[in-house]
Amino acid sequence: MDIFQTVGEISGKAYNSYLQTAKENGGKIAGYFCQVPVEVIHAAGLIPYRMRAVGSTGTTKGDIYYSPLNCTFTRHCFDRALRGGFDFLDAVIFMNGCDHTRRMYDNWRYARKTQNISPDFLYMFITPHVIDENCIVRYAGEIRKFSKSLSEKFGTDITNDLLLNSIKLFNKQRRLIAKIYEKRKSMGVTVKGSDILSMLLAVTAMPVAAANDLLERIDASIGDNSVQEEADIRVLITGGCLEEIDIIRIIEGCHAVVVADNLSLGARYFDMEVDESGDPVESLAKRYLKKLSCPRMINAFDARMKYLYDTIKHYKIDAVITQKLKFCDLWGVENLMLMKESKRTGFPLLALERELYGEGIGQLKTRIQAFIEKARNMKKADMAAQSRA
Ligand code: SF4
Repeated sequence: MDIFQTVGEISGKAYNSYLQTAKENGGKIAGYFCQVPVEVIHAAGLIPYRMRAVGSTGTTKGDIYYSPLNCTFTRHCFDRALRGGFDFLDAVIFMNGCDHTRRMYDNWRYARKTQNISPDFLYMFITPHVIDENCIVRYAGEIRKFSKSLSEKFGTDITNDLLLNSIKLFNKQRRLIAKIYEKRKSMGVTVKGSDILSMLLAVTAMPVAAANDLLERIDASIGDNSVQEEADIRVLITGGCLEEIDIIRIIEGCHAVVVADNLSLGARYFDMEVDESGDPVESLAKRYLKKLSCPRMINAFDARMKYLYDTIKHYKIDAVITQKLKFCDLWGVENLMLMKESKRTGFPLLALERELYGEGIGQLKTRIQAFIEKARNMKKADMAAQSRA
């Protein structure tokens, strides 16, 4: 079987066979939202599971708790929780990423009291919104508090040695993903963006050692055959909560290859290793605050733009697609700023708004097709102007 078929089977289910086997053998799983240090969860003896809505078919139950003005990621996720779709979790670690996810903590606790939904260990991990020395100290304090709560609940004393062991495993994972991303840098890109998103969905829902083994097999299986055709333009995709592989496939179906991203299930997951030589808690705090950010970090827009321009240059990007869910304020503001940058420096940009697993795919496809055609024409005009010069 093709390795990406195996990956697709893992990523296509909220509860995959690796998690089932782990549970059957007494393993424990902790769901988490972004910017929670997975190393701490792992050091406590639990499998970190990146929360997702994969396979969700509706939000009717979630809508009882949420307003229609909340994003569909949170409504789908909470809908699943209410239907028992997260009953395999032994803990859920929330994070103040945005007000929509923050509210899920309150809703989950309330539903636990009134409807007895699982699990019983619900924890709010507070992450500062600013990157500076004071906030790194604050984040380190939050890690210590979190470690204490996990230790008390699950009975493992999280020592520095255990943390360092977890840091090494996740650093290895970051290096393996980065190595696979490198294969998208050259003009003859050898791995599809849709397979990369599937890979990220899979490895964030597996025991880390098994995920690292899978990544090594993926790396070894990627040959020299280019998936890029001559007419294809090279796209970077950015934005908030994106887990639908079909969106990337639509782009790929329009004579384009997705070769880079700034996504939470993408570059933001593996960017920057944790220093293995210093105090593990402080090193974790530095990495989680200084890595490639999303717009919840309010003093990092310039750093995100630097990443964007560097990637445009090194990955020879022809066009940028940014996408956000309806009612996502954070990415709404970011996209306006990106549009301003696109006008200022001239990179082609398409800003999409959508619902998670929503309708309107046909309309999205039409917009993507038209944009890629326009970007291709701009590229041809640029090349013609360069050859005349
Ligand atoms: S899509 Fe936006 S509003 Fe929804 S959870 Fe993500 S950051 Fe929050």
